[in-house]
This record gives sequence, structure tokens and C-alpha cells, in this order.
Amino acid sequence: MDTQFDVAIIGSGPAGIFAARELETHSDASIAIIDQYTYPSGGLLNDGKLNFNINIGIEFDQLGESQQVIETLMQRVKEVFTSFPQSKMVTDFSDKEFLNTFVESCHNHDVEVILAEQWHYGTDNSKKVVQGLRSALKKTSFKLGHRVDSIEVQPDSFVLHCVEGKSATSVSSRILLIAPGRAGSMWLRNTAADMGIKHHFGPIDIGIRVELSNDILEPVTRYIYDPKLRFITSRHGDRVRTFCTNPGGRVRSEKYDNFYLVNGDSLNRRKTSNTNFALLNTLELTEPLSDTTLFGTKLAEQFNLLGGGHPTMQRVGDFREGRRSRHETFFSSSLHYSRCSPSYNATPGDLALGFPGRIIDNLWETMKTLDKIIPGILHPSTILYSPEIKFFDNRYPTRRYLETGIDRCFIAGDGAGKSRGIVGAAISGIIAARGIVKKYI
Ligand SMILES: Cc1cc2nc3c(=O)[nH]c(=O)nc-3n(C[C@H](O)[C@H](O)[C@H](O)COP(=O)(O)OP(=O)(O)OC[C@H]3O[C@@H](n4cnc5c(N)ncnc54)[C@H](O)[C@@H]3O)c2cc1C
Repeated sequence: MDTQFDVAIIGSGPAGIFAARELETHSDASIAIIDQYTYPSGGLLNDGKLNFNINIGIEFDQLGESQQVIETLMQRVKEVFTSFPQSKMVTDFSDKEFLNTFVESCHNHDVEVILAEQWHYGTDNSKKVVQGLRSALKKTSFKLGHRVDSIEVQPDSFVLHCVEGKSATSVSSRILLIAPGRAGSMWLRNTAADMGIKHHFGPIDIGIRVELSNDILEPVTRYIYDPKLRFITSRHGDRVRTFCTNPGGRVRSEKYDNFYLVNGDSLNRRKTSNTNFALLNTLELTEPLSDTTLFGTKLAEQFNLLGGGHPTMQRVGDFREGRRSRHETFFSSSLHYSRCSPSYNATPGDLALGFPGRIIDNLWETMKTLDKIIPGILHPSTILYSPEIKFFDNRYPTRRYLETGIDRCFIAGDGAGKSRGIVGAAISGIIAARGIVKKYI
């Protein structure tokens, strides 16, 4: 098998796949996508909510392109995803009366609403979508089950030292695109440092996943599948936002090297009687600790320590009373907990033991505001899972087309801090590929 390519792409998520697509369209370069897992797709296998609004999931200031260019690229990404029969539009803005009342209610509580056209394919359909994306790539070699351990920078090429099973192997390329996603963000940070690529820390999103009975949110999610609400808390002046709502969905865990985080998804065909969404507090740190990744990692480890190696969950009823949740009372009817059964088996525990006071203040204040806009959110049975953390906080200064300080080395996607979702990651991959074609092929 070939081990020498014009372009090597690390990561088979949306950033990597859309970059390869662009390269195939505009060049005859030999391309390899390398991924540590054996099924190439990265985060495309998760849920597949697609937000088509440039204010969602796109790190504008990190992409170095005009709004017009980003909008055009978003349109191209949209054409690809919406051409799959599995993708369905899940927003309905036709009921103006509902929409006006909802927006007014948010504004009355100083909450910003972003209305986006949203599509969804569902975790159960994701392999078909990935297959569709993959089969469009005719000239790209997939090197799967290859974990890139380190990258050697040579005068005219890059050598990727990989581990395949128990064997060491290598791939070399003239041009490199690194797109390892959030789970690979720590690896990228260490590897970039070894290569001499500078980085600094941006804000990190830390919070909880809220799960509640479907009927509470349904009056809103019927029209706005994934409501995007932004809050500034009055106590600390911090930013909190809702994120990734999954009507009829499930809470899931996300595995990192030393801990689990919580997340959520939903299937297209089989719905649960719950809805979940994330509530995220955006946090910036200055001296003496600006390392937001380290801070997030410590919090994640702390929750996993408290949860006996698992994330934790707490009923709102227990949180209000200032007590931890326990197995014995988790389903108590007399406490009204039977209205919502957890879709994920986390360890009953105590939010207030794992998060600093400032984060707790911000999350609780936001929950109370949300309950005024959508009454019922603070029902005692509502479950608060933690930790949910988004590791797209590392920032790598790049030149035009996301090229790092090293010539011919580009970065893209969530792990490089260039996006915060499938559509944004795909756009960043296309931008990098455009640069590769324009400058080097
Ligand atoms: C449960 C869950 C639900 C989600 N739901 C949605 C949603 O509904 N909508 C949405 O927009 N986003 C969602 N996301 C986020 C979405 O998955 C990411 O934003 C997106 O996949 C980022 O794309 P990427 O290309 O940057 O990285 P990824 O898709 O993460 O791909 C990176 C790839 O790089 C590989 N990799 C990393 N390090 C190495 C290495 N050293 N060697 C070889 N390979 C490596 C990884 O295995 C991975 O396959 C969800 C995420 C999760 C976990």
C-alpha cells in the first residue's frame, strides 16, 4: 500500500471529509485520510443536527474569511447534507403567533434568541450519511485504525509516525491537514508544541446536560427543534447558552482518555419520552491560569472521581433542597421523580460538589430564567447531568486558509478551535483545502 501522498489529512470527521472532497474536485493530488478508528467519520456518527446559520457553530474570527465567503460555503455544505434522504428539516417557522410570543417572552427576560434553519438525520441514520459522503470520494485512500503518534517536520515533507494495532508504521506527505476533533485536542496541543506551532487559550464551555419530560419542551421544540438561547447572568455577568437540544433523545457519554463527559443525541426512528439539552457557561481565564483545557480537564476528572468513574446526575428536587441525589430515592413518586426516567445511567450525586460556586450560580440563575420562559423546566424530576465540557478552547494563530506558521501545514475543525459543530467543521475543512490547492498544487 502507498505510504507517500501529496496531502495527508489527520481525522475523518466533517473537516477532513469535506477537505478531501474539495481537493478531489479541484486537483489530481493523491490524498490520504488517516484515522485512529476503523470506521471513518469522526463526529458525523452523532445525532446529525445541522444548523444553517452563520452565528451557530462557526468560529468567525478564527477562519479569516469574509461573511460572504462563509455564507457561500455554508450553502455548499447544506446542499451536500440535505441531498441525503435521511436528512429532514426540523424547524417550522410558519406559526408566526407562536414565534412572536416566544421571542417576546425571551426578550422580556433579556434573553437573546437565534433562529436557525435546522436539519437532522439522527444517529440511527448516520452510517448511511457517512457512506454517502465517503462514496463521493473516489481518489482518497483511507488509512484506518492508524493512530498518529507524532509528526516529523522535514524540509519538504511531513512524516506521520503511526501506531496500527501493535505495530509502528508511517505515512509521509508533502502537505498536511490536521483535523483531529475535540477528542484529539489535547493530542494536537502536545503535537503542535513539538512541531513549534504556537497556541493560546480561548474560552471554554463548561456545564450540564438537562433531561426532562418531553411534554414540557414540546410546545417549543415542535417549531424550534434546537432553541438557541443566550443569557448574560446578572450575578457574574457571564455568558450561558442552551446548546444541542434533542427532542425524544437520549443522554450519552463521550469517552476521553481519563474521563467521560455527557452529551446527547436522538434517533430518527425511535424516540424516548424525554428531551435533553446542554446548558453551557462560557469561561475565560487569565493569569496565573489561562489554560482553559487544563481547568476543564480537572473539573471533568473531579466529577468522574465523585461518580466512581462515571458522570453524575442530580434531580432538580434534590438540588433545590441542597442534598445529593441517591439511588434509593432517585425514582421516588412521592418526590415527583417518576415523571422523568433517566435515559443514561450516571451516578446519582451532587452538582454543587463538583463545580465552583461561580459556575453553579450561573447555571442555576439561567435555569430559573428558562423556567419563566418555558414553565416546567424546574420540575423536581428534571435531571442535571455533569460534566458537559466542550474542548474547542485551544486557539492556533493561522495565516490565510488556516495555514499554520509551518509552510504546507494546515489545521481545521473543532480540535483546532476553528469550529463548533458539523457544519462549521466542514466549512473550515473546505477553506484549508482551498488554500492547499491555491498555494501548493
Ligand atoms: C454525542 C455527540 C453529539 C453531537 N451532536 C452534534 C450535532 O447534532 N450537530 C453538530 O453540529 N455537532 C454535533 N456534535 C459535535 C460534532 O460531532 C463535532 O462538532 C464535529 O464532528 C467536529 O468535526 P471535526 O472534523 O473537527 O472532528 P471529528 O468529527 O471529531 O473528527 C476527528 C477525527 O480525528 C480522529 N483523530 C483524533 N486524533 C487522532 C490521531 N492522533 N490519529 C488519528 N486520528 C485521530 C478521531 O478519531 C476522529 O475520527 C456532537 C458530538 C457528540 C460527541
